[in-house]
Amino acid sequence: MSASLVIDVVKSYPGFTLKAKAEFRPGVTALFGPSGAGKTTLLNLISGVERPDEGAIAFGGETFFHSIRKINRPPEARRVGYVFQDDALFPHMTVEKNLSFGARKNRQLHSRLVAMFDLEKLLDRYPANLSGGEKKRVAIARALLSEPDILLLDEPLANIDARRREAFFPYLDTLRKEIAMPVIYVSHQVDDVIRLADDLAFIRDGGIISHGPLADVYGEAGFQLTLGRAGRGTLLEAEVSGVAGGIATLDFGGGQLLSADERLRPGQKIRIRLLAKDVAVALHRPKDLSILNILPCRIEEIDKNFYQHVDLVLAVEMKAGAKTLIHAEITQRSATQLKLKKGMSIYALIKALAIISPAL
Ligand code: ADP
Repeated sequence: MSASLVIDVVKSYPGFTLKAKAEFRPGVTALFGPSGAGKTTLLNLISGVERPDEGAIAFGGETFFHSIRKINRPPEARRVGYVFQDDALFPHMTVEKNLSFGARKNRQLHSRLVAMFDLEKLLDRYPANLSGGEKKRVAIARALLSEPDILLLDEPLANIDARRREAFFPYLDTLRKEIAMPVIYVSHQVDDVIRLADDLAFIRDGGIISHGPLADVYGEAGFQLTLGRAGRGTLLEAEVSGVAGGIATLDFGGGQLLSADERLRPGQKIRIRLLAKDVAVALHRPKDLSILNILPCRIEEIDKNFYQHVDLVLAVEMKAGAKTLIHAEITQRSATQLKLKKGMSIYALIKALAIISPAL
């Protein structure tokens, strides 16, 4: 098992201060936040391209930086792979030469990465004859060939158009499954984060506001605000326990849900996104209803003035000892009619058609 990257740093530029304390575990952490939040600055401090004003950065037993102990290892002594946003390959070298330039001579790793990123057919080409996505695959493989302990990816999909982005996801997914090191993936696209991240570090105004398993951070009020009204909702980790008649049964921490997503197959571990506006509520368990999911819940939080509607956070009460929170958005008229209050026991109603996995 790979070690964690631990940082506790301060770095100021005129008009901006980054103050970040975090532990990045092995796996993909999405570093998500608006432009100017300090994402690139943080990567630069980790790689050693920039120097913190004070603090410490360590990976396992190795100290990369320590202001008091006056340790500041240069980038080449840190074993950090860094793929920049506009990563330039050497234009006068073929893909093969680009890959081997400066890399350790590890033929086994070379073959594995060529297979993993589907580079066999590209090896004799020059960068000018590659698409944006192909260049990025080469850049990531090249970074991994230096056998880093940590991989930093600064918006790898930023300059790739929508259709090609789709084709790129499987590579990142393989990377996620096969590489057991901390990978920090900078993004300001929620969809990318949902598809790829294990953990989410949410950064704003130079501070990491929230950091933890993706679904947990996703559900927090501060993060929900960034999703905008239409995108707010719940992210659940689930496993497909069966499929029959076009309906999949999903086991999640709080119980079971039925989904009409026909791409689902038994045994798959998936993420489901449930938009707040697709969840309705009832005071009693309804009968004779087309809606397949009826979950007993308790109102954990109620915000009566959310964009003039009512925002509910519901604790699912299907399985004792498990606490799963889901978001619902209803009209003020409905909330008033049902006299909804914090602590009340109600039922959440969710159509099987509204339960979709964005990561297939
Ligand atoms: P993000 O990657 O989240 O968009 P950055 O880390 O690039 O944010 O930038 C954070 C802030 O720090 C911005 O206000 C930016 O102008 C400032 N900044 C970054 N690098 C420098 C630098 N070398 N000199 C001065 N200001 C900088």
